[in-house]
Amino acid sequence: MPPKTDLVVVGAGPAGLATAIGARLAGMSVTVLERSLGPALDKACGEGLMPDAVARLRDLGVSLSDRGQALCGIRYWDGALTAAAAFPGLPGLGLRRTVLQSALVERAREVGVEIRWSTAVTGLRDDGVALEHGTFPASIVVGADGLHSRIRTWAGLSSSKRSRLPLRFGVRRHYAVAPWSEDVEVHFGPSSEAYVTPVGPAEVGVALLWSGRKARFDGLLAGFPALEERLAAVPRTTRDRGAGPLLQEVAGVQRGRVALVGDAAGYLDAITGEGIAVALHQSAALVVALASGRPETYTAALRRIGRLPLVMTRLVLGLDRRPALRRRAIAALAAEPGVFSRLLGIHARSVPARQLGALSALRLLARVGVA
Ligand SMILES: Cc1cc2nc3c(=O)[nH]c(=O)nc-3n(C[C@H](O)[C@H](O)[C@H](O)COP(=O)(O)OP(=O)(O)OC[C@H]3O[C@@H](n4cnc5c(N)ncnc54)[C@H](O)[C@@H]3O)c2cc1C
Repeated sequence: MPPKTDLVVVGAGPAGLATAIGARLAGMSVTVLERSLGPALDKACGEGLMPDAVARLRDLGVSLSDRGQALCGIRYWDGALTAAAAFPGLPGLGLRRTVLQSALVERAREVGVEIRWSTAVTGLRDDGVALEHGTFPASIVVGADGLHSRIRTWAGLSSSKRSRLPLRFGVRRHYAVAPWSEDVEVHFGPSSEAYVTPVGPAEVGVALLWSGRKARFDGLLAGFPALEERLAAVPRTTRDRGAGPLLQEVAGVQRGRVALVGDAAGYLDAITGEGIAVALHQSAALVVALASGRPETYTAALRRIGRLPLVMTRLVLGLDRRPALRRRAIAALAAEPGVFSRLLGIHARSVPARQLGALSALRLLARVGVA
């Protein structure tokens, strides 16, 4: 049996590796156990890193120079109706998941994190985790094992609540084409949303999100005729990859010596494209809680981190379900690009929420017709 490590992290996605790097920098011994074969893990993702995610990765020493494509802001489309705004301050980054993973693994190794690939965790034990062959002893177990976390279930942290809303899913594909915009484009269609993210000088990713039953990429893309036409003759660079159901409710995020981070700690929806940013903020809070010897403080910290994303995600999901209101909201944002930009800054945590200003908020609501 290997010697007992301070922290065993289950899952080498962005949440797990960021936690591992942060914990190692705080002086803990850390091993990451990942069931997949190797570092270049791919995933169904829109691949837009919000500016605060980029800043957090830089704080951890993850090298992103010359990688990906700078993202200046967000542009909404609903048919011919459009509204755009720039991120105030630093830009975001469109980055293939495989590239992000390699950069995180590189940094983790540099700071002395041990990563074991092809190592599936099969259960929780009093002294660590169970593997297919044997056990791995650790003082603390971090469940960073994604949307359908088993650590969450084994620790009794899954919620038994069932939502009455239809299930939501996502699927993504890449195309070999030079980006036609410096923004992430969000297209609202009749029954789904399309996200177009530049991820390199000659590649864009398209992620589609929808409610209801499982569906296929091509069928969903047909709901966006202009986008479909633009991409019709463009070669694909990846096979489709899907994920869902997206909503995962939790009963808690920490119990005893087990803590959850990233999608494992609960997930609402990908509609605001900030899952990685949230995971990185959570991992920073978890490291602080563990380093102070008070893991129980993590729950309150995570609630604070999640408050704003929860409001934003519920708001955009609500608009998605009400097309007439959504169109009025997009028209209002188009008429108020400064307010739209401040909202993006609040979303990316570079602008305090109070800077939206009561007057601006009222003006925007009046344009939408709800004030
Ligand atoms: C369609 C779609 C679009 C999205 N777009 C964006 C976007 O544009 N921007 C953004 O920031 N976020 C986006 N997200 C969200 C983002 O992808 C997630 O929030 C992010 O991947 C969470 O990272 P994670 O490390 O928690 O989980 P994951 O990346 O899922 O990593 C979990 C890891 O755990 C491993 N694992 C699981 N079980 C075990 C086990 N038993 N033993 C060992 N290893 C195990 C898995 O193999 C995996 O590598 C999107 C999500 C979807 C579905």
